[in-house]
Amino acid sequence: MRLKSTVFIFWLWLSAIAARCQAPATLQLIRDVRVFDGEHVFEHRSVLLEDGKISRIGGSELKVTNAEVVDGRGRTLLPGLIDAHVHLPNPVEKASRQALVLGVTTQLDMFNGGYRLKLIKKFESEDRPDIADMRTAGTGATVPGGHPTQMGGGPIPTITAPDQAQSFVDARIAEGSDYIKIIHDDGSTWSWTTQRVPMLDNATMRVLVEAAHKRGKLAVVHVLSEQQARDAISAGADGLAHMFVGESVGPDFGRFVSDHHAFVIPTLVTLYPDCGKSEGPATLADPNLRPYIGEGWRQSMEMAKRNLQLNHLCNGTDVGIRQLVQAHVPLLTGTDAPVPGTTYGASVHVELALLVRDGLTPVQALAAATSVPAQAFHLSDRGWIRPGMRADLVLVEGDPTTNILATRNIVAVWKRGIRAQR
Ligand SMILES: [Zn+2]
Repeated sequence: MRLKSTVFIFWLWLSAIAARCQAPATLQLIRDVRVFDGEHVFEHRSVLLEDGKISRIGGSELKVTNAEVVDGRGRTLLPGLIDAHVHLPNPVEKASRQALVLGVTTQLDMFNGGYRLKLIKKFESEDRPDIADMRTAGTGATVPGGHPTQMGGGPIPTITAPDQAQSFVDARIAEGSDYIKIIHDDGSTWSWTTQRVPMLDNATMRVLVEAAHKRGKLAVVHVLSEQQARDAISAGADGLAHMFVGESVGPDFGRFVSDHHAFVIPTLVTLYPDCGKSEGPATLADPNLRPYIGEGWRQSMEMAKRNLQLNHLCNGTDVGIRQLVQAHVPLLTGTDAPVPGTTYGASVHVELALLVRDGLTPVQALAAATSVPAQAFHLSDRGWIRPGMRADLVLVEGDPTTNILATRNIVAVWKRGIRAQR
């Protein structure tokens, strides 16, 4: 009996040593830092990272033996940023690496297919520390000839009648769709072309949303006009993948969205080029962003020129955002990268500044890039700085809770507690 217990203790001791050798306990303490926890701001906190998670939060006096200390004085710690609308390109890794070094630890892809979809699912399951994490809508639902098939690319599955909705949704889930994307856009607000395309009717949209919900998936709808937005929300959509482009907006729009408990991903950085207000050139000129933007994306950011004559086309867009803020509609930061004028990571910081210009406080904007998208997309392990959450974090110089431009002064980024090489 005694021998048995001695052997057992020896075995425990050996296992403990073995475990240490496999995964050396790397404790990191970010000391005396301002913390934006996803919702509120706290001064002089210390945050301990352990085994890829946030393990403890204490005051500035918190001391932990064997911890690597990162000086937080004069700095702000944010949950890793979430870009709630991207399209991951080929190569997926390059874009996701650029996003990560610019503080974006999670990207929500909003339409993809074929080989790229397979790659996205692979990276999603690997959750590598050197690229941003990702989720994907896979192939979105549209009619034959509908948006975005006019843009070329290979043939994609389409839907023509309500009775195909459940099998369409089930096929997407089988391919790996984490949520269902629906396209409701006939091109009526496209300023760059006179081309118009067919779109899903409201009845089909409604059953698609129901089919997604039946499988526990969110339904997110692409719209670009106010009427399309109202149709999608009436059909039960969980959220809009864009705000719309428009010179005006009905006075009840914010209340309407709020009454239906939907969220909105404004993607102003992508809508503004249609109104001659591209932020692409300014994004590229920012010394805090430019060094991290890959050569391949620089040209398309320059392409989108400014044109004052078109600016009024977004008046309704901006007034609409103000209504949404007043009505407490959840707003999520998204870029729609790589639409010309936008790019991975960098455009999240630009979108944050645009949201502040449209009436969000800096703290509300930071929530729009962290806890709000995490909650909307049921990513329960991130978006907050709280014990037990993933250590997906961004440390910035200065105070973005009062000056949103400070999100660009990045000192360090962690994904699952592993500090990204910038
Ligand atoms: Zn998109």
